[in-house]
Amino acid sequence: TNVLVVGGGGREHALCWRLAQSASGGAVFCAPGNAGIARERGVEVVEVDERDHAAVARFCAERDVGLVVVGPEAPLVDGLADTLTANGVPVFGPSKSAARLEGSKAFMKDLCAKYNIPTAEYAKFTDPVEAKEYIKSKGTPIVVKTDGLAAGKGVIVAMNMDDALNAVDDMLTNAVFGSAGNEIVVEEFLDGEEASFFAVVGGGKAVPLASAQDHKRVGDGDVGLNTGGMGAYSPAAVVTREIEDVVMRDIIQPTVDGMAAEGCPFTGVIFAGLMISKDGKVKLLEHNIRFGDPECQVLMARMTSDLTALLLAAAKGELDSAPKPTWSDESAVVVVMAANGYPGSYAKGEKISNLDAADEIEGVKVLHAGTIASESGDVLSAGGRVLGVTAYGASITEAAARAYDGVKTIVWPGGFNRKDIGWRAIAREKS
Ligand code: ATP
Repeated sequence: TNVLVVGGGGREHALCWRLAQSASGGAVFCAPGNAGIARERGVEVVEVDERDHAAVARFCAERDVGLVVVGPEAPLVDGLADTLTANGVPVFGPSKSAARLEGSKAFMKDLCAKYNIPTAEYAKFTDPVEAKEYIKSKGTPIVVKTDGLAAGKGVIVAMNMDDALNAVDDMLTNAVFGSAGNEIVVEEFLDGEEASFFAVVGGGKAVPLASAQDHKRVGDGDVGLNTGGMGAYSPAAVVTREIEDVVMRDIIQPTVDGMAAEGCPFTGVIFAGLMISKDGKVKLLEHNIRFGDPECQVLMARMTSDLTALLLAAAKGELDSAPKPTWSDESAVVVVMAANGYPGSYAKGEKISNLDAADEIEGVKVLHAGTIASESGDVLSAGGRVLGVTAYGASITEAAARAYDGVKTIVWPGGFNRKDIGWRAIAREKS
């Protein structure tokens, strides 16, 4: 089967890498791709504008594409999967209506309430006065969220009343988040350790993948501004076998069943953001409808089974007949190298060298996120998050050490990275 991957970040590089290695796979195309994806064996970067859904469908017909894997959420929320499905192209990714699971927090919370999925207690508001009354009645800490997508900035974890009430004004009165904030969700503050869990879904069935944890803040020690993610590791020790079973039984499967019952059956990956309390109780923070970036990089580093067969089976609603995914016992860590200034403004077009030397280190795979090739074949930075140096090891400690060997080998004066990716897991391994 020929596969088209839509997207051009580190997540898509990881997917292309594994798809190209799948025994059941044919050609792998990627649009728009990046310099690293273009250099990946068995992968061809193609020029197709993913915002032009008809053009994507035409490309699939021309190149005999039998599976489209959509990386980011935006094309899904935009309805790319609907157009492809209407054209008879199997697609791994939800319809526009099923993409509301990530696109609307009110939709997600109502689904949880209706189908008994454990999540923080909440209420929805369009009226600021009512929202403030509710917040005052509940007290702080409390969490105020825009209903719609706001690039990770639409969530205010308010530790005091002023912050909570200001968040309401910003969202509902001053429209700081545009139409994403026309409705808000106010919810109970949950305490615990956050982790991510991934499952592949299709035809009403869900197959567990694995757990991961990421580092969202820009600075060492998890301080500073929020980013798309500065690093991640898998597995996450907090997600024990027992917790994994609970997540599948109480969160993922009821979500899949609920979506079908609501008339918007889900196909694709469910990426559940979890809060796990000290006593091991799991609650759902949020659902995402795509692989995480950079979590996907560490999942793919650990996956030992045929990715094409799995995603195609999900897309066709035939997961029962697909072989179960298998995983290396090893741990994986990804360290993101970002452009100086990120997540604020940063320079582009800087030359990066020694990438091949880093790739040759045992257990290291350099995945590209924001890179382009110059005319002379140099790799140039082209985004905020530029590289994801991914490594395996017998432990998170070993995987992280290898990833940092890779980072040190790469020459890019304009870049920076966190020095402590995996610190929580490494501390656990020491104790
Ligand atoms: P992203 O997709 O960037 O993770 P998002 O905008 O979809 O973010 P959420 O994941 O819902 O938003 O929330 C972002 C972060 O806020 C969470 O990762 C968590 O750290 C914190 N958070 C959200 N809800 C709660 C809650 N009820 N209690 C405590 N912390 C919360």
